[in-house]
Parts: sequence; C-alpha cells; structure tokens
Amino acid sequence: MERKCIKQKYNRLNVSRVIKKSDILVVAMSDSKKMRKIKITKRGTFSINCFYHDDRHPSMILFPENRFYCLSCKKRGNVISLFMKMHDMEFLESLETLAAAFDIKLPKRSYVQTNQELVERLKEIRASLEYNELLEKGNQKLLKNSIN
Ligand SMILES: [Zn+2]
Repeated sequence: MERKCIKQKYNRLNVSRVIKKSDILVVAMSDSKKMRKIKITKRGTFSINCFYHDDRHPSMILFPENRFYCLSCKKRGNVISLFMKMHDMEFLESLETLAAAFDIKLPKRSYVQTNQELVERLKEIRASLEYNELLEKGNQKLLKNSIN
C-alpha cells in the first residue's frame, strides 16, 4: 500500500517535468523506419505522418508544449504517450528513457531500466544538424507569427 503511494507521487511530480523538458520533435524524429515526413506548418509548429493511423499526409501536429493532435483521426496526447506508441514501451521505461535522453534528473530507482539504445539515438538527434535546422526554421516562423 505504502509502496503504491510512493510510486504515484513519483509519477505525478515527474511526469509533468519530463513533458515540459523533453522535446516532441526529437521524439518524432526517432522513428526507426524513417518513412515519415516532418513539415513546418504556416504557424511554425511541426507536422508528421500520424503514428496512430495509416496517414499519407503529415496530419499529426506537434505543439511546442510537447503535445500532439492528429487532424485526421483526432488522437491527442503528450510526448510520453507518443514515445510509448512509437517504440512499444511501458510507461515507466519511457519516462526513464526520456529523462536520461534529455538530462532530466529523476529520483533514483532500481527496478526500471532505461532503454540505452534509444537514449543514444535521441541524444544523436538532439545534436544533429537536421534537427537543429528544423528547430530554427520553426522558431523563426513562430516568432514571426507572434509579432504579426
Ligand atoms: Zn491520426
């Protein structure tokens, strides 16, 4: 009983931190098949082919708050639920893996493992020219829209 309470507290406190401090664009780019296109919308957000339905056009909008919404199938969620779906992972393993990849400190836990291969892949994407150029272009559009 007590153990369950500790676990829930851990989750509540840290889920929002991981959502806030990770990056949904990096996560979207970690798709192993690399068959999906990422586009920058007019507003400066990113869109990608949906991970929840067979999507020919990039219908899934990625928001800067690390949440997503599919214009076609209406599926919505956050960076953690997207990561779980993409890599077929459990919640806590996803949380730990994202925290490790984005240098977010979580309380020490011994019974959940991070997926080290995915941590490395996410870190490589964060450092890549492709990601940084996309981010810069998106940010410029966002800025332009906020001024206008
Ligand atoms: Zn969809």
